[in-house]
Amino acid sequence: MQRIAVVGGGISGLSHAYFLKKKYPESGVFLFEAASLGGNIATEEHDGALLEPGPDSYLERTGLFTTLVRELGIEKKLLHEDKKNAKRYVIKDGYLVKAPQSPLSFIFSSLLFFPEKIKIFLAMGKKFSLWPTITLFDAARNVLGFSAAEYLASPMARGVYGSEAEDIEFSAVFPDLFQKIAEAPKLKVALKEYSTAKKEYWKDRLGSVEFERGICSFEGGLITFVNALEAHLTKSGVQIVRDKIARIQKHSSGKYALSSKAKPYDTFDKIIFTVNSENLSYIWREADKELSRKISEAKNSPINVVYAAWNKKDFSAGGYGFLVPRKEKIPILGCIFASNVFSGRIAENRFLTKTMVSGDGALFKDDELANLTQEALARVLRIKANPLWTKVFRHTTGIPRYAPGYGEWKKDVFALLSKHEGVHFAGWAFSGIGLADQLESAYKYVNP
Ligand SMILES: Cc1cc2nc3c(=O)[nH]c(=O)nc-3n(C[C@H](O)[C@H](O)[C@H](O)COP(=O)(O)OP(=O)(O)OC[C@H]3O[C@@H](n4cnc5c(N)ncnc54)[C@H](O)[C@@H]3O)c2cc1C
Repeated sequence: MQRIAVVGGGISGLSHAYFLKKKYPESGVFLFEAASLGGNIATEEHDGALLEPGPDSYLERTGLFTTLVRELGIEKKLLHEDKKNAKRYVIKDGYLVKAPQSPLSFIFSSLLFFPEKIKIFLAMGKKFSLWPTITLFDAARNVLGFSAAEYLASPMARGVYGSEAEDIEFSAVFPDLFQKIAEAPKLKVALKEYSTAKKEYWKDRLGSVEFERGICSFEGGLITFVNALEAHLTKSGVQIVRDKIARIQKHSSGKYALSSKAKPYDTFDKIIFTVNSENLSYIWREADKELSRKISEAKNSPINVVYAAWNKKDFSAGGYGFLVPRKEKIPILGCIFASNVFSGRIAENRFLTKTMVSGDGALFKDDELANLTQEALARVLRIKANPLWTKVFRHTTGIPRYAPGYGEWKKDVFALLSKHEGVHFAGWAFSGIGLADQLESAYKYVNP
């Protein structure tokens, strides 16, 4: 019987365990988790509100998530984003400006001036050569123009990656698009081929699954998904081991064994690590010093989340929320109007905001972070009242930063890893930033 270990029980580890057990039902699958299953997904309740200190929604774009939700039998609990509040905003000159969400709305968007829109239109017919370490900001500036870099790339980078667009490597966050741009005769062709290739890949793998594209979550929050996965894994015979792996060692058989501080475990035929880079580097410190050192070069951006509950009589707003471009010099990355996105997140007469603040939260007290957020919201949304309460969460380990040089770093890590047969690295340090990236890459790894 094949023995497989998955280290880390975040969405990446859970989905690897799920797809592996499904494909190899006879194998012994062991999922090691040091703290709580779900990792960053850690829904909690506070004063009658449902808070998501980490991710709050899944971006369904392939049908894979819907398929899994059906297999887990939780489709009745699935929530789609409220379409009435779908408008996203970007701050420009201190005001909320509607962000373009389709090519047509792009023409009418007041985020860019008319000549800049013409430039983008003309760019579609041109061929571009981008170098592998070009930043997201420069890629957007070279291809679409300066304003697009400032008012589209910058807020997107800050909202999704918690980093500045100047600090993100374009080819690392959009590897397939980068490749298509290098190969296609025109930008328009590259974009079309990129989206068609993705659609065809998933149609080929999953068949014609009916699914609704867009942002979703569950009644009870994303933890509902984690709990359903846990119940399914347990039922299907996956062993969930609550222990922190501290070391990997090569056995005389050529296989690898794991151990925690308290306990050694037997060897495994396959080991998939989905833990953060700091812990991964530590686990490998004795088995392969060079690999451990290379992993330790990974960069992260710490981020903080400040929830605030408002009396609706004092303040509420329409839409999904807004992002702040760096140019605006407002000390927050953006804000989600959480009670607008999914129903039932707080009482009807209240309004819930989730604001992201970058930087090392350990340097600030809770009330300092809350005050900083409140001042920024008051400035942007012209709020006069105080919130009923605030709750601060710190992500000190931070979001993996796909900084310039990330592509080379990842290549080096995987070259060193190739010496260790049967071992694989996944999770958001390697497989993309979002929940969907983790689920999709786990599926692809198990079903190549
Ligand atoms: C504030 C914030 C908001 C976000 N919002 C969204 C969003 O709305 N939508 C979205 O798609 N994505 C969002 N993301 C990104 C999303 O959270 C990540 O893509 C995802 O959680 C990464 O999952 P993972 O399994 O790779 O890592 P993790 O969730 O970090 O899981 C790793 C797990 O490994 C465990 N572990 C670590 N070391 C060991 C060890 N030695 N032994 C055993 N276990 C160990 C940890 O305890 C943890 O449970 C957000 C992230 C943050 C921080």
